[in-house]
Amino acid sequence: MTSIRRWAAALCTLALAAAAAPATARGPADVDGARIRAADLEPQNWMAVGRSYEETHYSPLTGIKPANVARLGLAWSADLNTYRGAEASPIEVDGVLYNVSPWNIATAYDARTGKALWSYDPKTPPEFGRKACCDIVSRGLSVWKGKVLIATLDGRLIALDAKTGQPKWSVDTFAGEPPWPYTITGAPRVFDGKVLIGNGGAELGVRGFVTAYDADTGKKLWRFYTVPNDPAKGPDNAASDSALAMAASTWTGEWWKYGGGGTAWDAITYDPKLKLIYIGVGNGSPWVHKFRSPGGGDNLFLASIVAVKADTGKYVWHYQETPGEQFDSTATQPMILADLKIKGRLRHVLMQAPKNGFFYVLDRATGRLISAEPFVPINWATKVDMKTGRPVETPLARYGTTPVLLSPGPGGGHNYNPMAYSPKTGLVYFPVVQSFYSLAAAASWTPAQGGLGTAFAGNEDLRKEQAAYADTHTKAWLAAWDPVKGKTVWKVEHPRDGSGGVLATASGIVFEGTVRKTLAAYDAKTGEKLWETDTQTVPVAAPITYAIDGVQYLAVNAGWGGGLAHVQASSFKDLNVSPARLLVFKLGGTDTLPPMPPGQAAPPPAPPVRAPEAVVRHGAELFAKNCSLCHGQLARGGVKDLRLMSADTHSKFDDIVLGGARKAQGMASFADVLSKEDAAAVHAYLNARISEDWGEMSIKR
Ligand code: CA
Repeated sequence: MTSIRRWAAALCTLALAAAAAPATARGPADVDGARIRAADLEPQNWMAVGRSYEETHYSPLTGIKPANVARLGLAWSADLNTYRGAEASPIEVDGVLYNVSPWNIATAYDARTGKALWSYDPKTPPEFGRKACCDIVSRGLSVWKGKVLIATLDGRLIALDAKTGQPKWSVDTFAGEPPWPYTITGAPRVFDGKVLIGNGGAELGVRGFVTAYDADTGKKLWRFYTVPNDPAKGPDNAASDSALAMAASTWTGEWWKYGGGGTAWDAITYDPKLKLIYIGVGNGSPWVHKFRSPGGGDNLFLASIVAVKADTGKYVWHYQETPGEQFDSTATQPMILADLKIKGRLRHVLMQAPKNGFFYVLDRATGRLISAEPFVPINWATKVDMKTGRPVETPLARYGTTPVLLSPGPGGGHNYNPMAYSPKTGLVYFPVVQSFYSLAAAASWTPAQGGLGTAFAGNEDLRKEQAAYADTHTKAWLAAWDPVKGKTVWKVEHPRDGSGGVLATASGIVFEGTVRKTLAAYDAKTGEKLWETDTQTVPVAAPITYAIDGVQYLAVNAGWGGGLAHVQASSFKDLNVSPARLLVFKLGGTDTLPPMPPGQAAPPPAPPVRAPEAVVRHGAELFAKNCSLCHGQLARGGVKDLRLMSADTHSKFDDIVLGGARKAQGMASFADVLSKEDAAAVHAYLNARISEDWGEMSIKR
């Protein structure tokens, strides 16, 4: 069906929407593939990640419209009992809303009242927090035939009874793999009875793979590894074997000793007609190309979209966005499937705006590149060559030991935040970040050293200079992008990076959580702001919408955190936030949020720096390698801004860092990599940073 006909069909059924789904006749989450394929026929439900197999994050509902959106008010809210990043889009089916919060806790609510029906805590081991590069988030969940499917940070895929929240089956998706530091943060997707899940960990050295399980039983169906294994070991006896025999020629050296990377940590989509599954593959382990693959090579399937047959997992095509990537360039960002008229022809496309800054439109049957236009200023490449499909790189892409300022950097021009496509406007809406990131290769590296292969020693001053540049030159906006013309149609500037995922509706509204700690509504055609409300924290997730008895609701998880909070150059020292919450709005809603928790008036004074400069420098190196993943470059920001350590934390520093005293909060012991002297050096570095930024209480906040 063309998009116009599909749209017309959806319009015709809108008036009948309430009658179209006899909710009473069904059990909870009684969703199958036929229902999801016909999602437009029951727009009152949000039954899958992104609402449909196309993952458009678009709703045909029109009850909330530009003329009345100003009347939106809080209908109910639910505390998620955490200050960690809340990145999931909920699911809503037949009056029940299913949500998953940090540490993978699943909860079902009466979608009208917010009454909790059940909650399931998988007791994710907190020590896995140390392995999560980008916070202990969960990006979503799926439902299938009376089951709710969640994946946990420690690698379990669990099917819960949608009625009771009790597990029906559970599998360890890491079983049989080497004991590498894998984690799962992505949403499991269910495609016509198969549940698909990948994993993360490429910052710490793993080998990526995606597995398909039977959604009814948890039986493993196939596994696709995204990078080749040690050639001496022979084939994996997996769906990816023949594809990796081809990919092996794009690798050199002994990459397998550190896994090679290529984790598929979020986006996986599905075309039920072509019966293809599209896997978004991540960056390399380690980041620096020459250490991973000393003789060069594209390193397939890093930073690629790979299409495989849904039934067998066998390779069909791939498109590599960043060959031989070395700046955490991933193709794991959300993908949207749509039918677009391009140069007079109706094309069945896959669209992605990955970290590297190009907006890609691919033919989703063949993987052929249709267009690749920059959506943000890019300095690592000048363009994508349409003949070869390869980027035309600048020297910055092959940086060496001298730090360069890359744009976009590892945080990306666009990251995990869902984007939305409206078939009515023909536009794709997503949050864009123009940023700079200081990056240099180490002089040498071995797998035993771990980490990224990047350099920190000796360049601290240059990095500070570059961080200062990044601070003052970072820009962020909500973009409305025309995927046919390959250009921005309008943008709404935000004060800085950190805004959230997007929802578009047929009434011509685009909703986005903003870094101003608000949820805002914009006119889909012009970007004119229609409404904005205080959410006390940043809704980094994408909102969803649903309707019950003709009343339309808007639901979003609001909770600042996630990868950006970890990697960005500057801290959010002015960003005092409330705990994460699920917020649900409706027209005329009158509920209110509890008052904000008090902010920290001023950082506590740092203990005086008594350590010699050499110790502080050593601490800086150790911090960069072991701590900065969660606590920010230069110890600014992150999941916990360590410049704000309390006197109590200072006094217990060794107990925490070496003894694991705060393991329950996700801060596991680092005694396996840090000696007592090392911990003291890290502490000395932090004290130096505190004095430097906030010394003598000359507060810049
Ligand atoms: Ca990464």
